[in-house]
Amino acid sequence: MTRILVVEDEPTVSDVVARYLRREGYQVDLAGDGEEGLRMALQYQPDLVVLDIMLPGLDGLEVCRQLRATCQTPVIMLTAKVDDGDAILGLGLGADDYMRKPFSPPELIARVKAVLRRGQPIGGTATLNFGELRIDASGRAVLRGDDRLDLTAKEFDLLWHMSSHPGQVFSREQLLAGVWGYDYLGDTSTVTVHVRRLREKLERDPSTPAWLKTVWGVGYKFEAR
Ligand code: CA
Repeated sequence: MTRILVVEDEPTVSDVVARYLRREGYQVDLAGDGEEGLRMALQYQPDLVVLDIMLPGLDGLEVCRQLRATCQTPVIMLTAKVDDGDAILGLGLGADDYMRKPFSPPELIARVKAVLRRGQPIGGTATLNFGELRIDASGRAVLRGDDRLDLTAKEFDLLWHMSSHPGQVFSREQLLAGVWGYDYLGDTSTVTVHVRRLREKLERDPSTPAWLKTVWGVGYKFEAR
């Protein structure tokens, strides 16, 4: 059974979210603050965490940061902020997606399903090799030389999407549609943030990327070496 942890201090929100998730057949655990959320996430190892940013004590961004230090559980952040600075920061910390409050529960369910789907193996046993870089789709693992790179589910999907079409230039809009899905309502800065994050992990010198190249005025391409 798929287990989802909802970390939210407002009962009116968490009750609705829990009800909709349970109706979809998910097992739902609730945490009312950041400390409890972090403890439960590490203890129960849920398949996904729905994490509010505005929490008493440890806020959602800090929970996300600490969670990412030890595990790759998919995270969807909830933000009440009118500006998306915090949400973008959340993506930078490794969150997979975010939703702006107020949101419709069916929309959240759709995002949950999309994130869980992306977390599953892409299928087949395809492995791509680019010099010292080895990308294994079935194990969702990336090796650079002897180092295993610690990518989030979304970073892996982005890398796989681009590296399976080496040399092809993708616009941010194309990447948003191809990696996040056509029904995704986010903006293209989501792509920019993930590319930057991926470069920091992938590239030996992120300021002069060897693989993940910027094509000025167009977008990005993965260059095979
Ligand atoms: Ca809150």
